[in-house]
Amino acid sequence: MVFLLVGIALSRWMKRGPRELDAAEQQDKMLSEPMELAPPEFHPSIACLCCSHRVAHLDMIFSLSSYGAYVRPMPYSNEVGLRMLIGGASREAAASGFLVSPLFSYYSYHGPVFRVMLQVFRGNLNESSNYGFISYCNQCGNSQTHQWAELGQISCPCRNGMVSHSVVVSGPLWTGPLHNTAYVSRMLELAREWGWACNSKKCSDVESILNQMIDESDPQLPSGYIKLDEIASRAKINSPPLSAILSALRKEGYAACRSHINRNAIKTNCPIAECIIIAKELRDATDSSNHLSISTL
Ligand SMILES: [Zn+2]
Repeated sequence: MVFLLVGIALSRWMKRGPRELDAAEQQDKMLSEPMELAPPEFHPSIACLCCSHRVAHLDMIFSLSSYGAYVRPMPYSNEVGLRMLIGGASREAAASGFLVSPLFSYYSYHGPVFRVMLQVFRGNLNESSNYGFISYCNQCGNSQTHQWAELGQISCPCRNGMVSHSVVVSGPLWTGPLHNTAYVSRMLELAREWGWACNSKKCSDVESILNQMIDESDPQLPSGYIKLDEIASRAKINSPPLSAILSALRKEGYAACRSHINRNAIKTNCPIAECIIIAKELRDATDSSNHLSISTL
């Protein structure tokens, strides 16, 4: 329960932004140095980590030396930043016989600041651990998650298994869910009990962000997100309404939700090629509906 309270407090603290808190700024400054976890005898069962680098501009060699990850440019670089931070912690923890799993992860564009709360427990990395690689194809926009055994065999379906310069790979980093569903759900319950959530007068940012985190914690969702602008650009149509494409994806049986990192993006296990088809169908349905409305006037 203490850790739940800490989680709620941290969540509210994060909403205020780093500029108001000297402690947060000191922490950011401290963490601009290479990450190092405490010796094993001092490991808590909860660890809070913070990073204030702009991942999109991060030097690849610096990210490799500080977080153990070689990060290539990808459209969802801020989610990669959270995954790099958790992955760096996984690497440090594994060296001492521990594993980490995120209770929640939070990206704030003020700064920017990347924060994660991790559960630390005894264990060893193995082939099924969520510590691997993410690839993105610049040719077709497809993203994939890869385990270590796939190194040397990474390709994209659009290249029919052929090696291609259009595929970039980042890692190793955390490839599992960014949040723990049960933990964030309990945070939401407490937020409601304490009057921090929505009430009859106004809707709270805390409730909104916690609900988004619960949606994002679905283990079916892969790493990364798809910007609606990218779907629109590749489909050569106007950007589809976010709620409409989420609804259509769910109707087709895919997991889909908003991203707390980018308001104009979706997280889904639907391949981008299928997203483009669904976006075009939505456009066609809207066009025929408009045509019908004009005809009946
Ligand atoms: Zn491709």
